[in-house]
Amino acid sequence: MDRRRFTYLTATGLAGAGMAGLGRPRAHLAAASTQELRVDGTRLNDRLQALARIGRNPGGGNGRVAFSDADLEARAWYGSLLEEAGFATRVDVAGNLWGRREGTEAGRAPLALGSHLDSVPDGGHYDGPVGSVGALEVAWTLADADHATRHPVEVVVFPNEEGGKTGSRALAGEVEPFELDIETASGFTIGEGIRRIGGNPDQLADARLHPGDLAAFLELHVEQGAVLETDGMDIGVVEGIVGIMRWDVVVEGDTNHAGTTPMPRRRDALVAAARFVDTVHTTALEMPGRQVATVGRIEAEPGAPNVIPGRVRLTLEIRDLSMDGISRVYDRLVEQAEALGDATETTFSFSRFYVSGAAPTDPALRDAVESSAEELAFSTLRMPSGAGHDAQSIATFAPVGMIFVPSRDGISHAPEEFTSAEDVTRGTDVLLRTLLQADAMEWGPPR
Ligand SMILES: [Zn+2]
Repeated sequence: MDRRRFTYLTATGLAGAGMAGLGRPRAHLAAASTQELRVDGTRLNDRLQALARIGRNPGGGNGRVAFSDADLEARAWYGSLLEEAGFATRVDVAGNLWGRREGTEAGRAPLALGSHLDSVPDGGHYDGPVGSVGALEVAWTLADADHATRHPVEVVVFPNEEGGKTGSRALAGEVEPFELDIETASGFTIGEGIRRIGGNPDQLADARLHPGDLAAFLELHVEQGAVLETDGMDIGVVEGIVGIMRWDVVVEGDTNHAGTTPMPRRRDALVAAARFVDTVHTTALEMPGRQVATVGRIEAEPGAPNVIPGRVRLTLEIRDLSMDGISRVYDRLVEQAEALGDATETTFSFSRFYVSGAAPTDPALRDAVESSAEELAFSTLRMPSGAGHDAQSIATFAPVGMIFVPSRDGISHAPEEFTSAEDVTRGTDVLLRTLLQADAMEWGPPR
């Protein structure tokens, strides 16, 4: 890992470094051969199986948690395969593992692609690995075909996705100092873990990238839901990663004797809350759009069988591709809560405690994913991602594109997680084609 070179790159931006001596531009040749380039599905899926053996639990799942020995082994395995494909590897201060192959045209920012290698403690073998091994296969396909790109290509593995997207969030400048002291499932704190994988938590701010540092970023990932499988679709064209807002909701009524208080005289906070739970579900279902809304926790006070609950605390969560969409659902729910309060002689109060911004994908990259899939005769579905991904952090400073492949029964974060070899190959072929389409686009000058 060439740390010194990376220091230079972060100081000057990733673009434009080391462009000398690459030979003549081969854009014409590249355009002619783009149609024939396909990934090697056997090699791709063999490597996915090889990676699954690193950190495999006795029960068959995977416990390759971030910063564990298995994580280190997987990163070393991955880095050496990148090197073998002629990509120059380095680790940045946040522990992101990068592999770079130069482009033919000076002054272009790199196109990046990748995902994560870490899993949850008893997870599966596909969430993260499909996108990471897919990006590796794209690298090998480019190398095998000696296919030159105009932009440099950067393959990246983000550390600790499952424990807080540390690597990708560091690139966005989002990691707070206190997070370095959080203990991870590996037993190491995030700060210790970053050091273990070759980063330097004391200089985390240096990891930050800015608009123009990456021309674009692409991530292939398993869907982790059952929409593609249920609809019989091959490829999900991700429209963005949904934003999330969460509120604490308190319903106030009167605590009173459950035996002596006549029904008409009760101000039962739990009755009002129960009606509200149903209203949340019905409103999200019936309003136009694809928002989802959930009451995930509810507590009645004082919580005794013979006492009318005088106070209820519950959580409200709303997710949507647009923050305006979230606000529209919220405003509607507040209106209805007021009406419910009038009807039950209770009061509702809302206090927001969590916001995660929506991260729309780049419209041109959405089109590129879709047309790449269509050229290969794969069916496509435009869809939001309800789960968070590294691409979400990258979207704060670069255009991102995301490709989903089906997850069997929609199961994820469990040993039963499964995506067929055919689907992995399809997704990776789309990743390759989308990268080549992005290479032909103009992304503006790097800063
Ligand atoms: Zn993931």
